[in-house]
Amino acid sequence: MSSSFRRDWLTKPIFRLAQRALPRLSDTEREAIEAGDVWWDADLFTGNPDWEKLLAFSPARLSDEEKQFLDGPVEELCRMVNDWRINWELHDLPPEVWEFLKAKKFFAMIIPKRYGGLGFSAYAHSEVIRKLSSCSISTAVTAMVPNSLGPGELLLQFGTTEQQDYWLPRLARGEEIPCFGLTSPEAGSDAASMIDNGVVCRGTFQGQETLGIRLNWHKRYITLGPIATVLGLAFKLRDPDHLIGGREDIGITLALVPTNLPGVSIGRRHLPAMHVFQNGPNWGHDVFIPMDHVIGGVAQVGKGWKMLMSALAAGRGISLPSLSAAGAAFCANITGAYARIREQFHVPIAQFEAIQERLGRIAATAYLLDAARRMTCAALDEGHHPAVVTAIMKSQATDRMRIAVNDAMDVHGGKAIIEGPLNYLGSLYRGVPIAITVEGANIVTRALIQFGQGAIRCHPYLLKEMQALEEPDKEKGVDEFDKVLWAHVGHSLANTMRAWGRAWTGGLIAPAADAGAATKFYRQLSRHAAAFALAVDLSLLTLGGALKRKEMISARFGDILSELYLSSAALKRWNDEGRQGDDFPLLVSCMESSFATIEARFDEIIANFPVRPVAWLLRFIVQPLGPRRRGVSDRINDRCADIITNPGAARDRLTVDLYHPNPGETENGVALVERAFAMTVEVQPIRDRMRTARVRDIDAAVTQRTITADEAGKLKAVAEAIAAAVAVNDFAPEELTSRGKASKGEKSSQATSQATSQPISDQPVELPPPEPLQALPPPQAAE
Ligand SMILES: Cc1cc2nc3c(=O)[nH]c(=O)nc-3n(C[C@H](O)[C@H](O)[C@H](O)COP(=O)(O)OP(=O)(O)OC[C@H]3O[C@@H](n4cnc5c(N)ncnc54)[C@H](O)[C@@H]3O)c2cc1C
Repeated sequence: MSSSFRRDWLTKPIFRLAQRALPRLSDTEREAIEAGDVWWDADLFTGNPDWEKLLAFSPARLSDEEKQFLDGPVEELCRMVNDWRINWELHDLPPEVWEFLKAKKFFAMIIPKRYGGLGFSAYAHSEVIRKLSSCSISTAVTAMVPNSLGPGELLLQFGTTEQQDYWLPRLARGEEIPCFGLTSPEAGSDAASMIDNGVVCRGTFQGQETLGIRLNWHKRYITLGPIATVLGLAFKLRDPDHLIGGREDIGITLALVPTNLPGVSIGRRHLPAMHVFQNGPNWGHDVFIPMDHVIGGVAQVGKGWKMLMSALAAGRGISLPSLSAAGAAFCANITGAYARIREQFHVPIAQFEAIQERLGRIAATAYLLDAARRMTCAALDEGHHPAVVTAIMKSQATDRMRIAVNDAMDVHGGKAIIEGPLNYLGSLYRGVPIAITVEGANIVTRALIQFGQGAIRCHPYLLKEMQALEEPDKEKGVDEFDKVLWAHVGHSLANTMRAWGRAWTGGLIAPAADAGAATKFYRQLSRHAAAFALAVDLSLLTLGGALKRKEMISARFGDILSELYLSSAALKRWNDEGRQGDDFPLLVSCMESSFATIEARFDEIIANFPVRPVAWLLRFIVQPLGPRRRGVSDRINDRCADIITNPGAARDRLTVDLYHPNPGETENGVALVERAFAMTVEVQPIRDRMRTARVRDIDAAVTQRTITADEAGKLKAVAEAIAAAVAVNDFAPEELTSRGKASKGEKSSQATSQATSQPISDQPVELPPPEPLQALPPPQAAE
């Protein structure tokens, strides 16, 4: 067929049809899609990922300086903080911790050394957050925010030289505390719909008349907002008098607003799930800033959404995934130990199969999340900003941490429910919904971003086709479309054959890396990647723009893509760590549960796909026998549970670099459990002897000479250590009711959620210090 015949008689009609069928992108969607870049996600989308390429990516590593920071200031900080005191007594970090955070530059991990920051790699930054998260969520969040989406990151990427030279050294020295205000009462997930606004006008700033912006806003939920000295503000800019150009509605713009400017009101504090990191609302009423406070200057006005998406493309892969990986590893460490020391029905609860089911899942989740965290950090350190990968990481890591934390809570029973300094899980449990909600709430991220954005961004041809369809020069558009479309057709046909061949042979002939015992897993992933690519093409072809509204279908595709990414990371971790035999059950667990989820999601897509003939075709090609994988076997699950209930190299690898308190600490719940665990393991041979002799009483065992008096002493010491470890706190009744006294005659809480951008007060501006919350008195000694 001649190329001009193909172009004119086949491509042109398809071009016209596709212009009607393909989703129209809004400006904000386009900017989100164009933000960042693609990485391993794009390989997965081809349907034929190159596994050798995956294994060749260099693993993330720390420099000596970064290691020293973790062993030095981070360890020291962990020893300084007491989560109970912070959350329930002080309702803030202690002053010395604030000073330490600033002095040691925890707020400047992403700021390059030339500005006085630490200039850390993404991996080092992630390791710091991970370790802090394993001892205090409020401290970790406080350290996390200035290094995440906010003034620092935005200035680095988009600031003018003058802005960088002025602000970055001040941020690095801790002289300025930044926060970032995007969310407002009326605009949460749909942040671009904000009504916070700025108008270009002339005004007076520091006694001089100048061109600038008059701002009015109402933001809420702003972390560090109550104590920030500089607010990164997102607002919609208008220029009705055309003072900076021809456009009247300029669009979302980002500026730095010193919080001591007239018109700025900092509200009272929010209390997010009883965590006391600084968070609250703020308002601006006719606040005037000069144009040079716009991040990037006049050149960047109206580009705020793109800047935000670009900053989020990297940052979203670090903060919350690190906290989540820490959460899962912490649960593995402490729950494995607790299940070993806690006995019911005269045996450690770790020996009950139903408990092992939870322990095994916690262990595998910890393995998977840390694998994905490390792989993603390695990509970021190589200079990638993979927006889809980081969205997957944020939502999947936080969701899976929730499962691990829930499992840990259930295994602990009452011990994890009763609050007090001895409770080491309650704080994490309460923190989970925060992680799920911030930086893109998980439901919307799963439904619209993981796949919706992924399909356009990572697909080898779709974005190019869409760009051709939107080309203003129609003939040029058809030429481009002709090239890309037919390459796409070839790709789809190849994937149809791949998907069919691999599915009908159970993946036996699918490509794989030469990876020893794990080779078979690569084959299965190759099989599912081909099926995914085919299913995506058929869905786009038949549903077109409607796929955007089919959120449940889209979310399931997102799940499959996420599983492909996360299980790739697990395979890479196993390989990078030298294919450790002891860790193999963890890898098997990750892979089997991933395959079961992938098959279940394909089944659900096929069962619910609105175009039935396409569903039948998909069923025939990719899942002729329906879902076959049943998930993790009981045997593998038991072996995973064993890893965290016994000391050993596999357990150490799983819980590496978490914070471990001094074993001598008597008021630290983690120290008590870790100590009792170590002692329990040590006396295991003595206990085994007693069990064989069928004697339970220690003194009776001595009398019968089953054990020696010295061994009896050890057993009694262990029993005491266990009693201390399983103890919970209690409070005098008046200690708990005394909190109410604080609010006598005074309104203790105030709704700050009215959907208005009007400032709450027209009074002269002053910045009140955050109101201290009434402290809960320290509890009495543990029972
Ligand atoms: C503790 C905390 C700290 C925060 N820190 C900051 C900060 O420093 N700066 C800042 O600007 N913001 C901050 N936020 C705001 C945070 O980013 C928002 O809470 C988040 O974007 C969700 O908005 P929302 O709470 O209004 O929920 P909503 O947008 O009302 O969403 C409610 C639910 O609807 C779902 N949903 C929404 N749209 C869709 C859709 N199209 N399809 C499917 N589901 C959908 C969401 O996933 C969510 O489950 C913080 C929030 C909290 C709780």
